[in-house]
Amino acid sequence: MDATVGNGHDTAFLAELVGPSGEVYGFDIQQQAIEAAHVRLQEAGTLDHVRLIQDGHETIPDYLPVAKSVQGAVFNLGYLPGADKSVITLPDTTLTALKALMKRLTKGGIIVLVVYHGHPGGANERDALRHFTQRLPQSSWHVLEYGFTNQINHPPFIIALEKKRNLS
Ligand code: SAM
Repeated sequence: MDATVGNGHDTAFLAELVGPSGEVYGFDIQQQAIEAAHVRLQEAGTLDHVRLIQDGHETIPDYLPVAKSVQGAVFNLGYLPGADKSVITLPDTTLTALKALMKRLTKGGIIVLVVYHGHPGGANERDALRHFTQRLPQSSWHVLEYGFTNQINHPPFIIALEKKRNLS
């Protein structure tokens, strides 16, 4: 799943990765993003196995029953470069989507969140994500952070979650 399609770079990567027998779901609230991704995937010849959905990722349960398993997911947070910078991902909806995905993730599955926190509102989302992910039980989840340590201006960083076992 690409939870934040934007211009579709990650969606295209995931579509390539799963191959013709796989399936990728991509969510974005902006029509501009869905259209750009559509063109990119069409050009790459991978549109057939991608379901692009113009809706918030917090509505994942409306599109994927809980029995539908997900092997991997990417969130690229913040705003769409070159578009309206006031349209940003938000703590509550990002957490709702993350929790829905965690339920559907297979054992060994990975969720990668790329956290941009230099824009207005970004720090709130970063703090909410850290608060939640740092408290996940280590018996069930590996939680890692990965980031630049020598860059100025709030460099983005990654939070990665790997499911160690199926949750009861
Ligand atoms: N990975 C993308 C790419 O390759 O271009 C960039 C993603 S951009 C940093 C963040 C995207 O999240 C924006 O396109 C924005 O419209 C989208 N977004 C914001 N709120 C959202 C939500 N609730 N659900 C899904 N997408 C959302």
